[in-house]
Amino acid sequence: MDYLPVFLQLRATRAVIVGGGRIAARKAELLLRAGARLTVVAPQLHEDLHGRAARGELTHLAESFVPAHLDGAALAIAATGLEEVNIAVSDAARARNVPVNVVDNASLSTFIFPALIDRSPVMVAVGSAGHAPVLARWVREQIEAVLPSGLGALARFMGERRRGVQRALGAAARRAFWERIVRGRTGARVLAGDAPGAQRAFDAELLLSQLTTPAGTRSSALGEVYLIGAGPGDPDLLTLRALQLLQQADVVLYDRLVPPAVLERARREARRIFVGKVHGAAAGHTPQEDIHQLMIRCAREGLKVARLKGGDPFIFGRGGEEAEVLARHGIPYLIVPGITAALGAAAAAGIPLTQRGCSQSVTFVTGHVPEDDSLDWRSLARTGQTVVFYMGVGHLGSIVARLRAAGAADTLAAALVERATLPEQRVLRGTLGQIAGLAGLAGLSPPALLIVGEVARPAAAAEATAPAAAETAADLIQPI
Ligand code: SAH
Repeated sequence: MDYLPVFLQLRATRAVIVGGGRIAARKAELLLRAGARLTVVAPQLHEDLHGRAARGELTHLAESFVPAHLDGAALAIAATGLEEVNIAVSDAARARNVPVNVVDNASLSTFIFPALIDRSPVMVAVGSAGHAPVLARWVREQIEAVLPSGLGALARFMGERRRGVQRALGAAARRAFWERIVRGRTGARVLAGDAPGAQRAFDAELLLSQLTTPAGTRSSALGEVYLIGAGPGDPDLLTLRALQLLQQADVVLYDRLVPPAVLERARREARRIFVGKVHGAAAGHTPQEDIHQLMIRCAREGLKVARLKGGDPFIFGRGGEEAEVLARHGIPYLIVPGITAALGAAAAAGIPLTQRGCSQSVTFVTGHVPEDDSLDWRSLARTGQTVVFYMGVGHLGSIVARLRAAGAADTLAAALVERATLPEQRVLRGTLGQIAGLAGLAGLSPPALLIVGEVARPAAAAEATAPAAAETAADLIQPI
């Protein structure tokens, strides 16, 4: 180990920066955030530092550096860009046993700054002992991406309740209790910004811990369900919260639209249970009622259940029904939104769903006609909008026929996006008159979305290479 990582308490201690440029200003901000009493020694100041000096946030000495500037300092930084001054600061600091950092010069420094993730009061510091600062920053970004933004709030939540828990629980039980707070539904709620829900979960957990003996042996009697939107297929389109909860789940219940690459992101030990419909095979279909029972039973056993659904749970996902059943049975749950297929398909195919002067609104509609035909086809056929049909592949003929009967033009642009955002994605473009025929020629199969509206018309540049009136489906299939 080349350096010892420590956290310094600088509140109300004297810190000195020699230099007044941009880098000095950045270091000044850091030291002020840590509560230091800051003196900046520099003939001239960067505008940032100038403002702070004017507001009395720091003391400015418009002088050349002399060693006496470091008398009584707890910390010194040299950021002058002038080697002889930096050496003088380094020498003077060492002579006084003042820790010193010379910017970009580890050999003149007695300490160096790490790359920081600040979720105060939680701090993560990453260093490479000066070997590879860029690598340290990259490592920081990787960690940053997986740490919830509410980490600081969770730390404060726990800090505020520490003494109470100390009084309520014996030493052996406390550790297990805090583990359950961090990993269980209390933590999940604090991170989701649900303060009252977090307090309720905390109170229930504390009560249970007091009732259970021997202390700390219970794993977790309070299970819960996360209704998670898995996005359109590409695992990189999961939200950070979905990922965090998948990492905590004991059981994952997933449906047909969730690809293996997404499932792989769940905790390794989690049990994965398929509860979806196998297309065209009724035997493999888990009735909705069974899914409800499974979720309830798992949660009652104290398990954390990730109910993973394609796209968003509240868009043609029966998430509403499941949430209602859970609420009725007193099972705590969280809803995590996902990128719905229409948004994934639009982005992947380069089709904006609204566009100035072309489409003022977008409608997501079930294409499950004729079973579900309470749709207002006249309004769906109007111009100046975009309509996205989910679940329409088997009914393209009747969707097109109804739109035309309601007044939509044959020449209206339309696109089909099959397996959007997945490696096998295909996009078919044509007109309303052509699209059902094209789908047949291309052997299109679910899952796919039909997008109807002028926004689906290829841009002029694309048209130059892809003929507007193609002879065969192959001309219109764009590999992405
Ligand atoms: N809750 C999901 C929708 C479920 S309904 C969501 O928000 O996306 C199932 C329909 O969604 C499919 O029939 C298909 O029309 C559409 N769909 C889901 N994933 C898709 C994908 N990757 N590409 C194209 N369509 C998709």
